[in-house]
Amino acid sequence: MTASTHALAPLVLDGVVPYPPEFAQKYRENGIWLDQTFTEFLFASIEQHSEDTALIFGDTRITYGQLGERILTLAAGFERLGIRRGDRVVVHLPNIPDYVALVFALYEIGAVPVLTPIALRLHEIGYIVEESAARGYITTAAHDGNDLAALAAELKSSSSTLEHTIIVGSGGLEPLLAQGTLEHRRRSLPSDVAFLALSGGTTDRPKLVPHTHETYLASVRAAAAMTDITSDTVQLVVLPMSHSFAMRSPGYLSTLAAGGTVVMAPNGSPDVAFPLIAEHGVTIVALVPPLALAWLNSSLKLQHDLSTLAVMQVGGAKFSPDSARRVRPELGATVQQSFGMAEGLHTFTRLDASEDIITTRQGRPTTDADEIRVVDAHDVDVEIGSAGDLLTRGPSTIRGYYNAPQHQHVFTEDGFYRTGDIVVQDADGYLTVTGRSKDQINRGGEKVAPAEVEDLLLAHESVHEASVQGIPDAVLGERVKAFLLPRAGVDPKTLSLPKVRQFLKGKGLAAYKLPDVVELVTEFERTAVGKISKRK
Ligand code: AMP
Repeated sequence: MTASTHALAPLVLDGVVPYPPEFAQKYRENGIWLDQTFTEFLFASIEQHSEDTALIFGDTRITYGQLGERILTLAAGFERLGIRRGDRVVVHLPNIPDYVALVFALYEIGAVPVLTPIALRLHEIGYIVEESAARGYITTAAHDGNDLAALAAELKSSSSTLEHTIIVGSGGLEPLLAQGTLEHRRRSLPSDVAFLALSGGTTDRPKLVPHTHETYLASVRAAAAMTDITSDTVQLVVLPMSHSFAMRSPGYLSTLAAGGTVVMAPNGSPDVAFPLIAEHGVTIVALVPPLALAWLNSSLKLQHDLSTLAVMQVGGAKFSPDSARRVRPELGATVQQSFGMAEGLHTFTRLDASEDIITTRQGRPTTDADEIRVVDAHDVDVEIGSAGDLLTRGPSTIRGYYNAPQHQHVFTEDGFYRTGDIVVQDADGYLTVTGRSKDQINRGGEKVAPAEVEDLLLAHESVHEASVQGIPDAVLGERVKAFLLPRAGVDPKTLSLPKVRQFLKGKGLAAYKLPDVVELVTEFERTAVGKISKRK
């Protein structure tokens, strides 16, 4: 440790619910929380593997040494901009090679990246900038036909905190790269908030999830052990790099910490992914169920050598046992189911578990310190083998959302997070997800909060009332359906599916939240308190 390390005081970030001291002490004493920051975690590997390939994207290959250089150069640029320890910077990028360098450059200076999926638009990003009081916003000029540079300009003009917008890929990084390099050293403490992630969402707006270095790295290390990550690992990352499944389950963080290679892809369709598996000898990939199905059903699997693929992880939404049973015979890989959430807990089926377990369960926790309760409507524990609401508490599960006392009720008084998932736990601790008690739509792993869409629909001049619900879909699991009660006398054509989608798009809503189906109704069934009854 350098002299300046001793001078570091813990970062004070208002709006973070701390772990009770006795829990923090226990996790440290048990060796689950280590005295290590994100950059220390990665730089240990950078020093050991400097000549090896860290990242591959298209024709770009980046060695560990080059990655380290790039991180420290960008860190100098951020520091020169005046970004300081604890400052929030919203990162809104697709999977590109500089993703890792940019995020780690922020970690190096102790800034707090706010990790957002590229699919989000002005409605969501504007709110996230405001809620996190972000000083910086990093995006790319355009993505999927959307002008993100214009979005950046709009954010800057409307936000009172945003000072810096950085557009990657159109010379936007040049000013950051012209400031020399920083020396790698400790500029934040393991107990500092490292980043803010987004909750899957059940409320009208996204909630921010604060993870510290020690809470998150605990889960990264545990996941690496569950998935046998080593320096020989070649991991294909097709899911958004901002999502916890792509980050830490085991994600790019585990592979980079072990000195393996991360192959990044813009998406996971078989025509993109299969050639990459064959070319780079990919050993592990994480997919959401619709992608896994697309791989299983693709005739392309016969045209590419997929023999190196040892593990196909599936999670984010329920993978059907019938599909899971097809993985080994048809793709030659072991399926590993994973269930988890941005709030912290993640579970895995063990690689050596029986075929019955790996095809029917969604995994079990990674450490004994992850506490699981399965309870009835009165918070009383149910019998093993019975369905109930999943509550969890542990070294990687947050104690509250960032700056959101109004949502503290999803945590029990003794700190358990109410996941909103209905599960059955078996005698070996394995969980099977059987349903959901939260008001959320899981569209192939992408989460939609009905209240967020309903709120925007109510702003439509022809809509009197709206109810947004999930409807079953063979591939996605669920799709989004909007039931609309029109205002008296309006022409129903103003509420056709294309018009409704166009309206919501115009409001800056992400494309995956737009209704797939619209149905006009003449009345809604009500609950006893007069709310629209979603059941009926
Ligand atoms: P997110 O924070 O976006 O990862 O969403 C977390 C939520 O996704 C969980 O609370 C579950 O509702 C759902 N989820 C994640 N993995 C699975 C899985 N393997 N099976 C069923 N639901 C899942």
